[in-house]
Amino acid sequence: MRCPECQNPDTKVTATRVQDEDRVVRRRRRCSRCGYRFSTLENCCIADLVVLKRDGSRETFEPQKILSALKKTFKKDARSDEGIRQLHQQIVQIIQGQEKRSLTSRMIGDIVLEQLRQIDPMAYIRFASVYKNFQTPNDFASAVQAISEES
Ligand SMILES: [Zn+2]
Repeated sequence: MRCPECQNPDTKVTATRVQDEDRVVRRRRRCSRCGYRFSTLENCCIADLVVLKRDGSRETFEPQKILSALKKTFKKDARSDEGIRQLHQQIVQIIQGQEKRSLTSRMIGDIVLEQLRQIDPMAYIRFASVYKNFQTPNDFASAVQAISEES
């Protein structure tokens, strides 16, 4: 951690204190060159969410992938970028609100699909028409899952 006073990169931690039910760590630091004292806060409430994929591999959840899946879904739609962004934000909030460290790609697909169905049934149906061989709701879920995995 660089000293905010003299830009010296070498600062020493003089005290560490955990607060807010172990979610925030405050460190007192002292610059080894100019002696300036300051504190840093580490906030761990935005943990990486792990996605468990069908093939057994894992990857860090990347909200950007859902955004590109949504953009594909609404490619021929008049829906504005702003509308897609809001929908994306809502979906990401629901996913992060699960308060789990890992989710299967299937669960994420189901969440996306459920939001599509609630917000825009037409998009849900259009989504189905893009992927022709759908017979059951599970087929829809698989397709959303496939989209979020391929991008
Ligand atoms: Zn300094």
